[in-house]
Amino acid sequence: MTERLKAETLAVHAGRQSDPSTGAVSPPLYLTTTFQRDADGAYSTGFDYIRDSHPNRAMLERTLAALESGSDAVAFSSGTAATLAVFQAIGRGHIIATNDAYHGTLRQLKELVAGWGVEISFVATTSLDDVANAIRDDTGLIWVETPSNPLLRVSDIAAIRKLIAKRDIALAVDNTVATPITQKPLELGADIVVHSTTKYIGGHSDVAGGVVIGRDHPILRSARDYHSRAGAVPSAFDCWLLQRSVATLPLRARLHSANALALALFLDRHSGVSHVDYPGLGSHPDHEVAMRQMQGCGGVLSFCVRGGEREAMQVASRVRLFTRATSLGGVESLIEHRASIEGPDSHAPPNLLRLSVGIEHIDDLVADLGQALELLER
Ligand SMILES: *Cc1c(COP(=O)(O)O)cnc(C)c1O
Repeated sequence: MTERLKAETLAVHAGRQSDPSTGAVSPPLYLTTTFQRDADGAYSTGFDYIRDSHPNRAMLERTLAALESGSDAVAFSSGTAATLAVFQAIGRGHIIATNDAYHGTLRQLKELVAGWGVEISFVATTSLDDVANAIRDDTGLIWVETPSNPLLRVSDIAAIRKLIAKRDIALAVDNTVATPITQKPLELGADIVVHSTTKYIGGHSDVAGGVVIGRDHPILRSARDYHSRAGAVPSAFDCWLLQRSVATLPLRARLHSANALALALFLDRHSGVSHVDYPGLGSHPDHEVAMRQMQGCGGVLSFCVRGGEREAMQVASRVRLFTRATSLGGVESLIEHRASIEGPDSHAPPNLLRLSVGIEHIDDLVADLGQALELLER
């Protein structure tokens, strides 16, 4: 039945259960690590110990699987733990990964995964030719982050699926920046979707988590086993918080996208700004793919301040509503000088500021950036 329901309805109802013993409408927080066995030794509820499964986690996993049109989901204690669960499933061989993926993912590939004897090709997955040229006989996984950040490049998921149609290569998509409301990778041909639920799914900058979602794929089964063996399980309270947040994800995602587009258009016209990266703008190199593949272009955008690092830092120092902080996906707007947080190997230009556009009123956000940029011009 959930197959036919829309995202707004799934976000509220899918997976969620009222408590049969008390009638509590809001799902209770089950603060327990262990579960009672039946007299005959069976575990008829399906739960035995928190690391293997837990009611709050199971509920959240069902909800997230439904939102991504998957058959199952595995919730982790961070997005980073979720990405590692996918890479470990590949084991040996060769991985192709988006070259401007989240810097924590790039570091995980270089510093952990490469150490297992896996070879990794970092490729601009926006270019089908580059992806095709990187494929080898032992390629087991293509890891696509789209939109990437901070440059918001959009890779064509359906076209990459087509490219590898006759090969035994898995396609995984980090859908964190898009959200399942804005982009549905499994429907476009991906095998696996990963989210840092710390971001939009949590939505309030108060909980860390990650999830791997798929449709009965070997990587998903491996992630479920890995979960139990490696132990990066989320707490019951974190799952409860995420469950509560998911209900408003469709509303928030639409507002994040609308606010980001309006800000991108404002910045694009501003004389203190030399460049704006947002796939919703006609001038963005991947605008066409984004229009085909996404519903709204998400809440993250980057812009380059006219001048250099000093001018960018000045703008960041003068905002009043935007908070200077890393991360993205919360209800509050954030501004970040990306190059200095990523360090010396950063791909971000020195005058680039990344915005995580929140759900405040657009007029107030425009006014705040306007006053911060205006001072620069004097
Ligand atoms: C934040 C982020 C991650 C890592 O998630 P954590 O929850 O911080 O471990 C992975 N991918 C993307 C795109 C992210 O933004």
